[in-house]
Amino acid sequence: MKLSLPIALVFSALLSSAASAATVMGSIKPISLIAADLLQGVAEVDTLLPEGASPHDYALRPSDRRRIAEADLLIWVGPQTEPYLEKIIAASDIDALAWQEEGEEHADEPQGGHEPGQDQSQPHKEDQHDDHEAMHPWLSPESAEHFAEQITELLVSKYPEDADKIEENLAKFLESVELLNNESEAKLADKKTIGFFVFHDAYQGLVSHFGLNQVGYFTLDPSRKPGAKHLSELRSQLEENKISCVFVEPQFSPAVIEAITRGLNINEGKLDPLASGINVQAGGYVAFIAGLVDQFDSCLAP
Ligand SMILES: [Zn+2]
Repeated sequence: MKLSLPIALVFSALLSSAASAATVMGSIKPISLIAADLLQGVAEVDTLLPEGASPHDYALRPSDRRRIAEADLLIWVGPQTEPYLEKIIAASDIDALAWQEEGEEHADEPQGGHEPGQDQSQPHKEDQHDDHEAMHPWLSPESAEHFAEQITELLVSKYPEDADKIEENLAKFLESVELLNNESEAKLADKKTIGFFVFHDAYQGLVSHFGLNQVGYFTLDPSRKPGAKHLSELRSQLEENKISCVFVEPQFSPAVIEAITRGLNINEGKLDPLASGINVQAGGYVAFIAGLVDQFDSCLAP
């Protein structure tokens, strides 16, 4: 049936008002991608950070504050990765859910209440290596599976009439991640000994998941330049042929990598930890991780 124009307009007005009534917001794209899988056919998903922005050096704009206030639910990484969201969440009455690693949810914090998942057990020591690794949990497929289960629990309590659909979406998501894991494992099986550097130390979730050989990183914190001593160590490792591949990132323009690899036969790949260019729709998270795996696959050539 072809709708006459006025009826089509009424329909689209109804649809858009329904969508703005229930919008779940992911603070960064990778979180939105997971939410979009779970909320397929249930609610719209929006992303706080604009394309190309990094949570490492972001400052909220007034329009961001308005969008947060209008959202039904904000899903974020947490105060360590996104300190600029901590106060605004605490001061507003928005529902918020922070990323929880397996086991963390036993802390006595309210589930999806008005308190953000302020995890007091994690010290804010951003200079420490392990802590920076922990700032990018979305890059670990295992952690994403676990967090998807956490999000689902909250969504089911928020949208009880859609509980069956959300649970079904979760099952599909978990299945698709398992399939991705198996396919990626097969792709990377013969690349595990090949040494590489990453631009910033964000990828441990993925690197350890597939047992890859990350030899070093240019910087721990992408907003700081690597020191001269660290760079000369990297240069020695490059010259000793320990490294076949160096990964850059689209959010930062590392002239330093160009300088240090000049004249050496090193492959260059690009890892985007924030899924730029991936559409927020069901299947997006798997497409994002598959894209990273493809970068490893092509850059890690002997
Ligand atoms: Zn980082």
